[in-house]
Amino acid sequence: MYTITLLPGDGIGPEITAAAKKVIAAAGVPINWEEHVVGEQAMAAVGTPLPEEVIASIRKNKVALKGPVTTPIGTGFRSINVALRKQLDLYANIRPARTYPGIKTRYQQVDVVIVRENTEGLYAGVEHMVGEDAAESIKIITRKASERICRFAFNYAQKNNRRKVTAVHKANIMKCTDGLFLSVAREIAQEYPEIEFEDRIIDNMCLQLVQKPENYDVIVAPNLYGDIMSDLCAGLVGGLGVAPGANIGEEAAVFEPVHGSAPKYAGQDKANPTALILSAVMMLRHLGEQAAAQRIENALVAVLTEGRAVTYDLGGSAKGMEMAETIIAKM
Ligand code: NAD
Repeated sequence: MYTITLLPGDGIGPEITAAAKKVIAAAGVPINWEEHVVGEQAMAAVGTPLPEEVIASIRKNKVALKGPVTTPIGTGFRSINVALRKQLDLYANIRPARTYPGIKTRYQQVDVVIVRENTEGLYAGVEHMVGEDAAESIKIITRKASERICRFAFNYAQKNNRRKVTAVHKANIMKCTDGLFLSVAREIAQEYPEIEFEDRIIDNMCLQLVQKPENYDVIVAPNLYGDIMSDLCAGLVGGLGVAPGANIGEEAAVFEPVHGSAPKYAGQDKANPTALILSAVMMLRHLGEQAAAQRIENALVAVLTEGRAVTYDLGGSAKGMEMAETIIAKM
């Protein structure tokens, strides 16, 4: 029996979490879920979006499954995602994007994995107003964080039989920050001569991903570029409803979909639970539950291939829970 922290989150979070929990239980993995409220609901209930016991629970259990959390835009409380990643030092954000049979997309053979640095860079939100009419954001890139994310990307490639790592940057313009990231990536690449290495400037990478996504394999990038490219890659393979993710550190791992809380669909059981179910599949593999993970993935692929019990975003009209129950029936 595993004890795992569960953060259902806001908006569509609770309903897709309920669907994913049911699928995991049906795969035969016994889990005692330690459930905590975060985000908007926690803010309303206890005055903070990330109560201390949430961090303590993840530290203790070492693994969490997390739904999306609403973050107010511009003003209001700061992102709990950024806080979780920083406080638990979840430095590697893994976001696979691959085409599945049955999902209609413009592309057929996409299979990329974005390895995004998760703790620093422009996305860290280290910023302040300078008087009333100017604002400053501080982009910090360190050798330590660049080294460990690049090494993580190459190790991931090695373990998963991948052939190439592409480092993404804007070192032609940001010669210090992205320049450091790129030079570290080049150094680490030399330790892995069996894996092909190349680099791309972020703007060119976006063009390449839209024109020839099948040319890419593992992509390693600083925080903000990784964030943007992962939505782009989700778009290549059928949308945010099918894009899973994992935040990995030395001490803990938090598994969550790429998408947000989609507030306009909340409470309608309309949202696609696939991204969260695939995040749970990544979690089961992390726990060593390979057989259960494969059972869920095979059943999901069967449901996608049939294309009947799928949600609106995949061209169907099934409710999220109905899709989950059809996956369970296929197992
Ligand atoms: P979003 O991902 O919530 O939604 C964008 C659109 O994508 C939705 O309107 C919907 O059309 C589609 N979509 C997303 N998930 C889907 C699913 N499971 N099934 C079907 N369609 C789906 O992005 P947003 O509207 O920019 O952000 C909404 C809120 O979510 C914001 O408060 C934002 O800060 C937050 N957010 C949280 C996370 C996270 O917790 N990891 C990530 C991104 C955004």
